[in-house]
Amino acid sequence: MEDTMSAAFNKPFVAGNWKMNLDQTQARELAVGVAQAGPDLTGAEVVLIPPFTSMAQVREALGHSPVGLGGQNCHWEDKGAFTGEVSAAMLKDAGCGYVLVGHSERRQFFGETDAAINKKLRAGHKNGLCPIFCLGETLAEREEGRTELRIVSQLAGGLEGLTGDEFERVVVAYEPVWAIGTGRTATPAQAEEVHGLIRRELSKKYGQGVAACAIMIYGGSVKPDNALVLYQEKDIDGFLVGGASLEAGSFITIIKEAIKADRKKQ
Ligand code: PEP
Repeated sequence: MEDTMSAAFNKPFVAGNWKMNLDQTQARELAVGVAQAGPDLTGAEVVLIPPFTSMAQVREALGHSPVGLGGQNCHWEDKGAFTGEVSAAMLKDAGCGYVLVGHSERRQFFGETDAAINKKLRAGHKNGLCPIFCLGETLAEREEGRTELRIVSQLAGGLEGLTGDEFERVVVAYEPVWAIGTGRTATPAQAEEVHGLIRRELSKKYGQGVAACAIMIYGGSVKPDNALVLYQEKDIDGFLVGGASLEAGSFITIIKEAIKADRKKQ
C-alpha cells in the first residue's frame, strides 16, 4: 500500500469513495480484488476510501500494492473532546495517505461550511495527508446560472491561506451535486467547462505553473461506459467514483479506461 503525501500529476488519479457501505468482510474482498489487478493499473494512481470501520482490513488487504488509502472525512484538531470524530493524525496513523474534504454529502447533510472545510484541509495537510478537496454546484445553482460564482467562492474559501507549495499536495474534485449518485453524469463539455474555470482560478491564485500541474478529477455517476469520453477532456485528470467503486470489476474498468484515454492525451 502506498503511503504517499503527494499525487503524481502525470497519470490518471482515480479514487473510490465507498461512503457508508460494506461490512469488514465485504470491504476486504473488494480491496483484494482491486489489489490483484494492481499490475494492470500501474498507469494510474488509485486510492480506496473505505468507511473508518474497515480501514484496517483494507490496509492489510492492500499489502504492498501501490494502491493508496484515504479517509472520508477528518476533524481539524489532532485530538480532544470531539465525540464521534476522527482526526487527520489518526488517519495518518491508520495508514492513510489521503483524506476527502468537503464532499457534497458532508456539506449538505452535516452543514460543513467553506471555513470548516478550509480547517480540515489544513489539518490533513499538516498531518502529511493529501486532501482531495471536493466542490460543486447544486442543480438549483446551475439552473439559476450561478455555477461559476459557487465554484469560485468554494475554491476561495476552501483554499484560503494555503500557499502554492502546500496546494501542490491537494487534489481538486469537481462534483456537481446533481450528478452524484443520480445516474445523471455531467456531459464531457459541462465537466470540462468547470474544470477549465477551476484551472484558470488556480492560475490567478498560484500562477500558471502550479495550475498546469494541479490534479483535477471529476465525480458524479462515473461509470465504465462514460469514463473514456470524460477523461478525453483536456482538464480532467481522473475520477472520484462512488457507486461504481463498490464493485471491483466496474472500478477496475474505469481505471483502465482512464489509462487508455491518458495514453492518447500525452
Ligand atoms: C461520490 O460519492 O463522490 C460520487 C461521485 O458518487 P457517484 O459516483 O455514485 O455519483
